[in-house]
Amino acid sequence: MRHPLVMGNWKLNGSKQMTAELIEGLRKELSGVEGCGVAIAPPTIYLDQAKHAISGSHIALGAQNVDVNLSGAFTGEVSADMLKDIGAKYIIIGHSERRTYHKESDEFIAKKYAVLKAAGLIPVLCIGETEAENEAGKTEEVCARQIDAVLETQGAEAFKDAVIAYEPVWAIGTGKSATPAQAQAVHKFIRDHIAKKDAAIAEQVIIQYGGSVNDKNAAELFTQPDIDGALVGGASLKADAFTVIVKAA
Ligand code: PEP
Repeated sequence: MRHPLVMGNWKLNGSKQMTAELIEGLRKELSGVEGCGVAIAPPTIYLDQAKHAISGSHIALGAQNVDVNLSGAFTGEVSADMLKDIGAKYIIIGHSERRTYHKESDEFIAKKYAVLKAAGLIPVLCIGETEAENEAGKTEEVCARQIDAVLETQGAEAFKDAVIAYEPVWAIGTGKSATPAQAQAVHKFIRDHIAKKDAAIAEQVIIQYGGSVNDKNAAELFTQPDIDGALVGGASLKADAFTVIVKAA
């Protein structure tokens, strides 16, 4: 039995004041809401503040990135052990913004995946096709390739207690979400793809949908059997909208 997970990706947004106010709002609105995992991924610099602010609630701490190295001369980077030390649980990797702006390859992201698993952290592996790939009918091919970078090198076991976020690039931040049927078809493809290696692990892996999820479209998306919650960007910056999404899951 899978539990849905709704996770807020704050991206490059926030301040000390916003972190305090947003978490205060979430704590109020989410108190007593059960049956759905909830996590927030603020910018790295606010992780420690956020960890204290969520203390005693059922909101988990996430982070938006990790380095492949564990320590040493890697200026500006943050390691898996540091994220663990500060209390983070879910770590987003492979987000399309990092694939695009930081030229992160499937192989590099797979290395991050391995580093997180070794540290006992939960990777939230983002995959998804661009608009051009979608129009060329390559959605399944792209998702399979992005998953295989982990599956073929680390085995299906690597997806035990892990999260995949299917995020069609054309839906991120555009206001143009995939329809529930479109998303369901890809989620089922992803689960079936992993099931070819290990049916039990495929059945338990959480597959979130991400891409313009908001308080209006969440409930319908979550009616689909293979959609296990959402990775939420823009709508995670408003406590009331994020709460509606969590309740819908
Ligand atoms: C994201 O960045 O992971 C995302 C899904 O963004 P948005 O919800 O704003 O489309």
